[in-house]
Amino acid sequence: MGKLKVFEARCVRTMDPGRPLAEAVAVKDGHVISTGTIESMQPWLEREPYEIDDTFRDKVIFPGFIDPHTHFRMSGIFMGLTYLGPLDQQGPRGFNRGLKTRDEVLDKLREADRTLTDPDEPIVAWGLDPAVQGGQFHRDELDSVSSSRPIWTVTYAPHVVVTNSPMLELIGVDESTNVYGIERYTDGRLNGQFIERGASQIAGKPVAKYLVQPGRGVDAIRVLAATAQIAGITTTADMLFGYLNLEREWAEHEEAVNDPNFPLRMFLVPVESRISAAHGDGAAQFLLDQQKNRNSDKLGFHGVKFVNDGSYPAMTLRMRYPGYLDGKEGHRGETPWEELFKTMLPYWKAGVQIHSHANGDETVEMTLNVLEQLQLAYPRFDHRFTIEHYCISSPDQARRLKALGGLASVNNYFVHTRSQIHATQGFGPDRAEATARLGSLEREGVVFALHSDFSLVLSPIHPLTAVWIAVNRVALDGKTVQAPGERIGVDRAMRAITIDAAHVLRRDHLLGSIEPAKHADFTVLEADPYEVDPMDIKDIPIWGTVLGGKVFPINE
Ligand SMILES: [Zn+2]
Repeated sequence: MGKLKVFEARCVRTMDPGRPLAEAVAVKDGHVISTGTIESMQPWLEREPYEIDDTFRDKVIFPGFIDPHTHFRMSGIFMGLTYLGPLDQQGPRGFNRGLKTRDEVLDKLREADRTLTDPDEPIVAWGLDPAVQGGQFHRDELDSVSSSRPIWTVTYAPHVVVTNSPMLELIGVDESTNVYGIERYTDGRLNGQFIERGASQIAGKPVAKYLVQPGRGVDAIRVLAATAQIAGITTTADMLFGYLNLEREWAEHEEAVNDPNFPLRMFLVPVESRISAAHGDGAAQFLLDQQKNRNSDKLGFHGVKFVNDGSYPAMTLRMRYPGYLDGKEGHRGETPWEELFKTMLPYWKAGVQIHSHANGDETVEMTLNVLEQLQLAYPRFDHRFTIEHYCISSPDQARRLKALGGLASVNNYFVHTRSQIHATQGFGPDRAEATARLGSLEREGVVFALHSDFSLVLSPIHPLTAVWIAVNRVALDGKTVQAPGERIGVDRAMRAITIDAAHVLRRDHLLGSIEPAKHADFTVLEADPYEVDPMDIKDIPIWGTVLGGKVFPINE
């Protein structure tokens, strides 16, 4: 048994609405024993020896922040490739300047062509941003970089692969190929684009060895976890677990996460298409067995993930009438929508929580239809079916989501970082302005979380920035307030990165607030988001975190 330790603070925001404020929190064996004041917790303190830790005497303690949708393992892979993104980036091989124009992208590819000595070695590059760099790239312009060396590129949000002619040959597709998502010029020639999972998976085969890279996984998890910890995060969920190789990814996570100095809890959400390919009708039972046999407090399997449309920044999501500015319709995910009810039903019945990616309002509508079918076929309470991203939606959809008992996990960073870009690129002014309708979700009483999707969608990972955007909805120009009626208050936004995010991960009995018996996971701030000017919330310095009672200062 450990010793009782009492952390004193200027303020403890417990996120327990019944007892929201305290000045001290007592911790033992990694769990919270009591919150209140030194005086109020005397009935505990009289019974056993204790020590008082006043490190946080002038600081504010919150429950540890939770980001319920990230991609650390996979981001590590992309970060090792030639970088074509629009934002400055610190990569594993040094600093990469952001590329803001099409010509800069083509120049960077030419430079990569000159640098490689083996003429057969492909260029494998990541980070394209078609909305900023003048539209999707295509085969002929990559042939202009090199018509002999194979070139493979992918958008920052990795939903669109673009290749040149030599790479098309390696992939083994030609004009006779007919696969959903393998795109063509208007004259019928392949244009080098492979959109969304099914098609891009085919495109990935010749470059698999560059993407898989054994050994990089553990490093990637460590590096990205350190980035999250600096932002005050103590728990994340990975939403593409098992995409490449489930057992190897599990082993890599075990190696990284079970180190006592690793600062996060991580919950891994397997991709449905991979699980059903491996386990067929036994897929739901397989997941329940893994949860039972492998889960610990710090690392575990959780739920199942479906991807049902494209990306917001890569502009491949599906939108209802009047659709995209250029008349395109976007793309669905791997599972045809008409098969989704049948595919989801076994998980629904077994009680495996479903996380269903839907970025556009057409996909949200389809997802609500499937959820309604599931409820009609096999009614369930407290199923926590979660729509992931929920970027473009309408108020009636929030009302219907509530009626069906669903939750939302929302990427709202785009309101600030991208909504003005997409007023003219892709979505048009109405949809772009109303990106991430948190006010509508709050009005209808839907429980929702905020997430970053880091590092696969041009968002930072910084929960206080997500809160700042949710509260202010200030666009990139620094002054326009986007859809002011979709703003929410500070308390609701802080809930969305703590207790409500824990609810989305079905761990609100263990995490997300500072209450007796819960894990002693805290985020320690230098100022109180409830007290500062709302425009200053994102700049509040983060002192560090506490995970299971173990203190992780940032500046050490
Ligand atoms: Zn994601």
